[in-house]
Amino acid sequence: MAADARTQKSSSPTNTSGRDQPSEPATKRWAWKIGRIFGVDVYIHATFVVLLAWVAYGHFAGGAGAIGRGLLLVLAVFGIIVMHELGHALVARRFGIRTRDITLLPIGGVSRFDRMPEKPIEELLVAVAGPAVNVILALLLWAGLALTGANTSPVGMGVVGGSVLTKLMWINVSLAAFNLLPAFPMDGGRVVRAALALKMDHVRATEIAAQLGQGMALLFGVLGLFFNPMLLFIALFVWMGAQQESRVAELKKVLSGVPVESAMMTEFRVLSPTDQLSLATRLIVAGFQHDFPVVDQKRLVGVLTRGDVVRALSQGDAESPVASAMHREFATAHPNDMLETVLARLQAPGVVPIVVLRDGDLVGIMTAEGLGEFILMQGARHATAATPRADERARPNGDRKVDPIDPPAFVKHARPG
Ligand SMILES: [Zn+2]
Repeated sequence: MAADARTQKSSSPTNTSGRDQPSEPATKRWAWKIGRIFGVDVYIHATFVVLLAWVAYGHFAGGAGAIGRGLLLVLAVFGIIVMHELGHALVARRFGIRTRDITLLPIGGVSRFDRMPEKPIEELLVAVAGPAVNVILALLLWAGLALTGANTSPVGMGVVGGSVLTKLMWINVSLAAFNLLPAFPMDGGRVVRAALALKMDHVRATEIAAQLGQGMALLFGVLGLFFNPMLLFIALFVWMGAQQESRVAELKKVLSGVPVESAMMTEFRVLSPTDQLSLATRLIVAGFQHDFPVVDQKRLVGVLTRGDVVRALSQGDAESPVASAMHREFATAHPNDMLETVLARLQAPGVVPIVVLRDGDLVGIMTAEGLGEFILMQGARHATAATPRADERARPNGDRKVDPIDPPAFVKHARPG
């Protein structure tokens, strides 16, 4: 299976590359870069070794030759998954969306995009492109096998034995079919959502697609209990993916049309690059704030986060100047930018806050905590409001609360499929 999780990144704030963006997803942490194709870095996850070992073990009885063939098959499958992901990536590129990287996991590929397609038709085409690659590969293999008079029947095929090309053909067929299941985080779930979004608003489309996904998850779960434990794993994967999608959509709805100005922190202290880090420590302890814009003669030169301070202190640098520990690269936003657009930028844990500038003047800072509090307040307002805002469609159960307690959950925001 090839599920691809895509992390959304805001495109609005400028100057975004942090010195050490700790926003890598968990899947990237144990991954090695193996190459670069079409300008996209390809990583391989450590758990992939487990799969190699499993296949080698399966072929063990056949001797070194069989093990070699088995490993070759695994490599071919991963080549196929890379092509599937490149299918998504190249179509996304046509719509001006950059793919940051692709990570290969034993369960498939994970692509991370700079941002998600905005138009439903673009989302649809990007989602379909991956399975389309598998369909084309399957057809090519089938044509090759048919021309040479080889057997194309899947009967009697197992992990060991059988023609490798026939196996690869059926692997492509299964990958296409599996990924087109109409359930998030499969590509098919995204296709359903995009198709619905052509007719209705995005949140409603996501809700329906997510419900369908959770229905599928239940079905997988029940089948898994009776037939194949692997299905239980997939059920869980699909269930969580569907839940996450609907949360993100709802959150965006709550934030849509709200400017950064409404949620930014306007009461804050600034530091000078020559201040000692111990001053930052005292301010943090005194409860001023966690992150400080660093200003040198009215010019914004950096952002010092609590993480920077902790790191410096652990190296015994309490007397060092702020300039030695601060982030020199950071995102900026305008007070009139929409919260939706900065949301993704504030998602990862430990991310550098966004500095809000109006005509070059520092007017606020936008932190994940600040955004979390804003969402909490919005949620409370919605919960007590007798009538929902006119531009909002109340959910069937009337519960408009978003989940402010757990930013990483709405934030992680994998868009797999
Ligand atoms: Zn895919």
